[in-house]
Amino acid sequence: VPSRAEAEARDEVDPLRAVREEFVIEAAGPIYLDGNSLGRLPRKTVDELQTAVEEGWGKGLVRSWSRWVDLPATLGDLIGAEIVGAAAGQIVVADSTTINLYKAAAAALAARPDRSAVLTDAGNFPTDRYVLEGLCRERNRELRFLTPDPVDGVQAAEVEAATAGGDVALVLLSHVDYRSAALGDLAGITATAHRAGALVVWDLSHSAGAVPVDLDASGADLAVGCTYKYLNGGPGAPAFVYVRAEHQVSLSQPVWGWFGQRDQFDMGPRYDPVRGIGSWLSGTPPVLGLVAAAAGVAGVAAVGVGALRARSVALTDLIVELADDWLAPLGAAVASPRVGARRGGHVAIRHPEAWRVCQALIDRYDVIPDFRPPDVVRLGPSPMYTRFAEVWDALDRIREALASGAWMAYPEARRRVT
Ligand SMILES: *Cc1c(COP(=O)(O)O)cnc(C)c1O
Repeated sequence: VPSRAEAEARDEVDPLRAVREEFVIEAAGPIYLDGNSLGRLPRKTVDELQTAVEEGWGKGLVRSWSRWVDLPATLGDLIGAEIVGAAAGQIVVADSTTINLYKAAAAALAARPDRSAVLTDAGNFPTDRYVLEGLCRERNRELRFLTPDPVDGVQAAEVEAATAGGDVALVLLSHVDYRSAALGDLAGITATAHRAGALVVWDLSHSAGAVPVDLDASGADLAVGCTYKYLNGGPGAPAFVYVRAEHQVSLSQPVWGWFGQRDQFDMGPRYDPVRGIGSWLSGTPPVLGLVAAAAGVAGVAAVGVGALRARSVALTDLIVELADDWLAPLGAAVASPRVGARRGGHVAIRHPEAWRVCQALIDRYDVIPDFRPPDVVRLGPSPMYTRFAEVWDALDRIREALASGAWMAYPEARRRVT
């Protein structure tokens, strides 16, 4: 395995090494490997939020809405152009990923009234499963689960088998698995579902900003995703929703509100939505969240997802290499695909005491990963700001935490947030 000096040398020649300077990073702060859960704060965001608060809100007051009102669509177009491969007019940013999942899935179900089932992955992110569970109960459909290999994730052949009966209205999957980081075949699975007559909603929460995505070329019908993970939009930043242009007439989202209304300020008697993606807005969008999200997205766009992906694969390859050499003999195993091309931006390390190991890492070793039940320590080195030397140090400290048994001092009981 590479030495620490070799890891440092890689940082010195890295074409993206200066991007780290764009972020607020405490000099003596921890090694942060949770950028896939909450991205770091870009310096620019501090200024842009301050301006939005002091100038936009403080001085402009309600007059500022003439600018703010366009933010959901202009940021949506930027995400489409730079992050997820969508031509303009197909994405808006507002509401949470959960709410956008509800809207997308409900619209898809309404478009397939004669089909009785919805298909997802039993290992999909909880909110995705819960939204579908609620919708299926409300609309009297059967929720069907795939149980793919926990490391390799959902394969097109599994979707083909589960949709063969012709009764599936909707397939909803994550492009990158939040636990294992398995990277799904966006175009292949979409085509498979389409052959069976189903619509497809993709959750891009763990892809956006880390993995190149080409929504338009993939044939995807709808997609959603977070802006606070690899896009560094800040805690609770609003999410995006994509609706393929050709579906914008036939698909109708279920939360009708005045922000989707044609001539909104005419305050008309009945809902008469705008034609196009604007009808996917419901109520007043969170302006400060949008300002922060826009700053985060602009930062990622300026670097480019292609360059970030190359660096991300190199960072996670290093984790896999060091984990195999150092951690496997101590009872911790890589639980992510080993081939970089099949993996998203993080690496799952499985250990029977993962939760206690995580607590020890944060409390005693100044390394911030996160824990995903039942037994995964998740390491997410955001390619915008994580250095190779940090990855080397983090794995060295995990090795020490395991070898010393330091984790034994930490409780088995979980906290509210892990
Ligand atoms: C992070 C994440 C979410 C989060 O949804 P919120 O509504 O923002 O809480 C949803 N789906 C996936 C796949 C995620 O990774």
